[in-house]
Amino acid sequence: MDGAIDNRKYTENTDVKSFSRMVKEEIFRADIGDTCCAMAEFSGLLLFGAQRIQKDGIRISTENPDVMGCFAELARILGFEASVKQTTEKSVKYIAEVMDTVRVAQLLYDLNLLDESDGSIKYHVSHNVVKKMCCKRAFVRGAFMGAGTISDPNKNYNMEIVTPRPELCEEAAELLRSLEFECKIINRKNKYVIYIKNSDRIADILSFLGAYKSQMELLNIKIEKEIRNDLNRTANSETSNLIKTINASVEQIQAIQKIDKLVGLDNLPDELREIAVLRLENKDLSLSELGNLLNPPLTKSGVNHRMKKIMNYNK
Ligand SMILES: [Zn+2]
Repeated sequence: MDGAIDNRKYTENTDVKSFSRMVKEEIFRADIGDTCCAMAEFSGLLLFGAQRIQKDGIRISTENPDVMGCFAELARILGFEASVKQTTEKSVKYIAEVMDTVRVAQLLYDLNLLDESDGSIKYHVSHNVVKKMCCKRAFVRGAFMGAGTISDPNKNYNMEIVTPRPELCEEAAELLRSLEFECKIINRKNKYVIYIKNSDRIADILSFLGAYKSQMELLNIKIEKEIRNDLNRTANSETSNLIKTINASVEQIQAIQKIDKLVGLDNLPDELREIAVLRLENKDLSLSELGNLLNPPLTKSGVNHRMKKIMNYNK
C-alpha cells in the first residue's frame, strides 16, 4: 500500500534492546537526587528486586546490567561497597551483594524494613521512607528497576510491576494511585501484578520516573500507529467501494449480455445502447466515471437512470 509507514526500524531497535531495557537504562542514568531519595529508591529496589534481604546481607541477581549498576550505585551512596559477580548463566548474568552483619542490619532498620520485635523483614512500603514527593518517585523507580517491565509499544501498551507478596503489591499500587497513576492488580499464579494499560498513563509515568527519551519514543510510536491505522481505514473504505462498484458492474454486464442475446444491443434506444457498450468496455468504472466518458458528459444520476432502464429491460 502506498504511503504505509514502515514499522521495521522499531522492531529492529527492539530486537537489539527491549523497551524495558531502554527504560531501565534511562532510569539508571537519571539523577538519583538527595540521600532521602537514595534510601527510598533502594527500598523499592530491595523490596521488589532483591533475592535476599537479611540482617547480615542483601543480594540481587539479575540479567540486566543497569539493575545491577543501580544496586551498586545506591549502596555506594548509602556508604556500602557492593561486590559484583558475573555469571555464565543466561537468566542471571550479575549477582551484586552487600554482606556486613552489623551495618546491613542498621541500614534495614533505617529503611524501616526490619521488625524490631523479632528481627524479621517487613515487606511493606514504609510511610516514613516515602513521605516526600521526591522520595515517592524514587521508590517507584526502585520498584520498577527491581520488578518492572514495559511491553514494546509497537505491540501493545502494558506496564507491570510484579511481586509474590500480595500486601506489598497492594501498598505499592496505593502509592501509585496517590500519585494519580490509576493502576490495577491481577493475580497470576503465585505472582501479584500491578499493571497499567493506558498508553497516555504509561507515557506520564515514564516522564515521572525521568525516562523522557523512552516517553518520547512511546508517544512517537503511538502517533505512527494512529497514522497507519487511519491509512488502513482509508484504504479499506476505498477497497470496499471498489468491490461494490465491481459487484454492481457484474450485474449490469449480465443484464446487458442477456439483452444482447434476446433482442440485440442494436435494437436498444441510442441513449441506452451507448451506456451498455461503455459498460462492456469499462468493467471496473463507477457510474459517474462512465458518465464522464459520454459526449456530452452525463451526471451519475443520469447514468444511474439509464442503467436502471437497462436492468429492467427484460423484466
Ligand atoms: Zn527524597
